[in-house]
Amino acid sequence: MGNALGTSDRPLRVAIVGSGPSGFYAAESLLTAAIKVKVDMFDRLPTPFGLVRYGVAPDHPKIKNVVKVYEKIAAHESFSFFGNVSVGQDISVGDLKKFYDAVIFACGAGTDKPLGVPGEHLPGSHTATEFVAWYNGHPDYRDRKFDLSGKVAVVIGQGNVSMDVSRILCKSVDELRNTDIAKHALKALAESKIKEVHLIGRRGPVQAAFTPPEIKEFVELKECDPILDPQYLNINPESQAELADPNSTIRARNWEILKEIAACSPANNPKRFVIHFLKSPVVLLGEKKLEKVVLEKNELTGPAGKQTARGTGIKEELACGILFRSVGYRGVPIPGVPFHEQKGIIANLDGRVVDNEKVVPGLYAVGWIKRGPSGVIGTNKADSAATVERLLADVPNLEACQHPDTQAVSDFFKTKKVRVVSFNDWQKIDAAEIERGKALGKPREKFIRVEEMLGVLEEN
Ligand code: NAP
Repeated sequence: MGNALGTSDRPLRVAIVGSGPSGFYAAESLLTAAIKVKVDMFDRLPTPFGLVRYGVAPDHPKIKNVVKVYEKIAAHESFSFFGNVSVGQDISVGDLKKFYDAVIFACGAGTDKPLGVPGEHLPGSHTATEFVAWYNGHPDYRDRKFDLSGKVAVVIGQGNVSMDVSRILCKSVDELRNTDIAKHALKALAESKIKEVHLIGRRGPVQAAFTPPEIKEFVELKECDPILDPQYLNINPESQAELADPNSTIRARNWEILKEIAACSPANNPKRFVIHFLKSPVVLLGEKKLEKVVLEKNELTGPAGKQTARGTGIKEELACGILFRSVGYRGVPIPGVPFHEQKGIIANLDGRVVDNEKVVPGLYAVGWIKRGPSGVIGTNKADSAATVERLLADVPNLEACQHPDTQAVSDFFKTKKVRVVSFNDWQKIDAAEIERGKALGKPREKFIRVEEMLGVLEEN
């Protein structure tokens, strides 16, 4: 190896920007590589685990158990956590390159795709990102206000995020009380007057992006009736072919659950979850705030497997007090890193960052910022491993960094007066949150402000 990177004397030094699933899986692949690697992971918040902490719904605790795997990775002697450090703000990518031979961006997709219809930004129309981050206690979203005083909420999009948003609105407070939902969100939801949640999909039941466990949960809600007009189950021949495709068991399982919902007579529960297919919002209307959404009925066009929605010109109005746009996420650019605007990801070729199709040496991407917002948490394991494989193949040609020294990194932040949060520090915050939760019968009561988190460290 020309540059001798990856030996005990000179381990390969890699910075990972972002501490969600894709970041941890990249760390795992690096730390189990045949060469010696030192991994430093950065997160702009003092807390690790990204999407697992701030994206996964509070009533899905089993999914969050995956952090036990990440804790094991973090315990590796060659792993360090640099929390409370914003790359691009506290340290530039250029400076990062002085301390690391390679940088992997694992910073996820931090914002939503726009809907692109007039009235989208009326008060009362929100992105799913805001709502999800708010009920999960993300410090940046803690102070958001959601007016839950109306009777009707509308959710646009039919992916699993829209299912999370709808379910949180449809559940009774008793069904949420013992989760790690943020206290402010539980209080607001306890006062919610919402009785109807309308889920709007632009295509048909066979094309819905949600998965069977997520739709099944609506059949099991304690105080909410799922409603589906059986007419939606009269599908065109192309959709029938998609449904019969033996490679897509998800569609067939969704179909069975949707049939069950359509056949059910409502049990007169206080809330209703109404599923609509083949409708797109065309305009959101209201004087000072959202009052109604105009929906256009669609028909499907194109061959099986590639059907798209086409407006029919037939419109209907749905009065609503609040609306959530949940039509997919997109990444946010990092200063100094080439970005593919149209796709909303870091410009990359199989994980190697590219600028005008030319590889930028030493920069890599994993997870949603590499491929876009698709797949479940586990999808990131193979995705991150694939990028790390390319990085390891590039090692002989990497330019060794100028200051291969973690102490130099710490000194850099000391000079800049950045209070770096180590993994050990995080474990103190974690323990304090768990302790706070005990009294409330919750797995934890999250700190919702960075200052509160740092305050725990001053006390200890
Ligand atoms: P998604 O699965 O891509 O779903 C996006 C939805 O928005 C689709 O129904 C899509 O319809 C619709 N849509 C897109 N553009 C639209 C437009 N202009 N007008 C109307 N509808 C539009 O995205 P997501 O729900 O944000 O989820 C992201 C990823 O996280 C997914 O892989 C998801 O499975 C995963 N996730 C998993 C869980 C879980 O496992 N419990 C929970 C949350 C998220 P078309 O199909 O017609 O494009």
